[in-house]
Amino acid sequence: MDFFSDFSMTIDGVAVRAAQTVPVRNPATGTDFASAPRAGEDNLNAAVAAAQRALPAWKTLGVEGRRQRLMAFADAIRDHVEELSSLFTREQGRPLAFARSEIQLSAAWLAGVAGQDFGPEIVEETAERRVELHHEPIGVVGAIVPWNFPVLLAMWKIAPALLAGNTMVLKPSPFTPLCALKLGELSRDLLPPGVFNVVSGDDALGPMMTAHPGIQKISFTGSTETGKKVMAAAARDLKRLTLELGGNDAAIVMPDVDVDAVAQQIFNGAFFNSAQICIATKRLYIHEDIYDALRDRLHAIARAAPIGDGAQQGVMFGPVQNEPQYRKVLALIDEARNAGLTLLQGAEAPQGGYFIPIILVDNPPETARVVEEEAFGPVLPLLKFSDVEDAIARANDSPYGLAGAVWSKDVQRAVEIAGRLETGTVWINQNLQTAPHIPFAGAKQSGFGVENGRAGLLEFTQSKTIFIPKTANC
Ligand code: NAD
Repeated sequence: MDFFSDFSMTIDGVAVRAAQTVPVRNPATGTDFASAPRAGEDNLNAAVAAAQRALPAWKTLGVEGRRQRLMAFADAIRDHVEELSSLFTREQGRPLAFARSEIQLSAAWLAGVAGQDFGPEIVEETAERRVELHHEPIGVVGAIVPWNFPVLLAMWKIAPALLAGNTMVLKPSPFTPLCALKLGELSRDLLPPGVFNVVSGDDALGPMMTAHPGIQKISFTGSTETGKKVMAAAARDLKRLTLELGGNDAAIVMPDVDVDAVAQQIFNGAFFNSAQICIATKRLYIHEDIYDALRDRLHAIARAAPIGDGAQQGVMFGPVQNEPQYRKVLALIDEARNAGLTLLQGAEAPQGGYFIPIILVDNPPETARVVEEEAFGPVLPLLKFSDVEDAIARANDSPYGLAGAVWSKDVQRAVEIAGRLETGTVWINQNLQTAPHIPFAGAKQSGFGVENGRAGLLEFTQSKTIFIPKTANC
């Protein structure tokens, strides 16, 4: 398998190349280094038709048979961690050690989900009858993923959808198609043809999928703006939907924390992956008693944080992943600067590529665009509060509700505050934690439905209730 120059789609278990291609750019250099097939409608139709043909046998194989095949797929990913990680760094920009973590975690996720059970539940048992709730596959799942965690977020869909007996057409982001194409290639000898298809393309491919009548469910991760279009398109034939969307996550830091003990963790929760994480801390509310100390500590960490090409040793922060995002984040920073806000800059960023130094914005007004909008890049507003009630109200004053965090020595008080945050997840004295068995969902305009855990697995199933009499009464 050539990992670095030969990229094909997987349709019906075989390699498919397209007449046209899309260039793939290394964000650390700003230059194109590979090309991915640009799927046309004919390729998508072939992938959906293959997925439909594969459905009956994949369902009949039963959960044990599917589990074994998915475990073998997880092993194949583990066997290719190094090649996948290095490809990941080139297309996504993330430093190699962290790219490797995503590949390893994705293999572990697949195995972890594949180990789950979702057998029929008995919802009533009397002398007269038993009522069973079965979880049937839905059909062909269209999975659409973004560029920030291109392998893990795909796996959040692949693993539960296939275990539940569905088949899939996966579409990666046009900015990061390569690792997903390699996942398809690795699966060819391990999964029956048509069970897992991977198609790559340009901006036209996503809307083609959401409009395709042969797809029964769309599992989408991306921006809230696109999520709304996906929902509108899915309404036409009532496709099932899971939407994991944007966030503008708030963290509240109470005055009793040990600033030196929490600063690095808070920093990582905001800036890991150059802050391109849906669940990154994007608004940091700090109690006035410790505001200056924590601000200065975060600034010191930012000044010492090495930014550069993720392929180089020792680099902790890579570039912004793509040019439109780079321009968007720069515009946000310019606007903050022009508005007279105080910007505290971290280590110098290298020239070339889409590098932006880490920026802390010192106590901007709540109405600043850098506070109200999801930056999705290395710029973080630090916001002062004196009354926690005010901090909770400001944290909740957002159309988003993905995740949040509370930092305090008083865990019981932190739990009370967590209970009042209008988000799908709240971490206390930690952040960015997810796991295959822990449900993940967005509140408000951050999402629709659940990923992970039993609830996430069941989102890839259709409920079917069967009433069974105890005697043959007819
Ligand atoms: P995006 O919405 O631009 O694109 C996401 C995917 O949708 C891509 O594959 C894209 O090609 C596809 N797409 C674009 N237009 C489409 C359309 N009309 N119909 C169907 N598909 C379409 O998002 P992005 O810029 O790739 O990712 C960043 C965003 O994703 C951020 O807002 C971030 O918060 C969010 N995100 C959310 C989660 C989560 O779990 N909630 C995780 C990661 C990223």
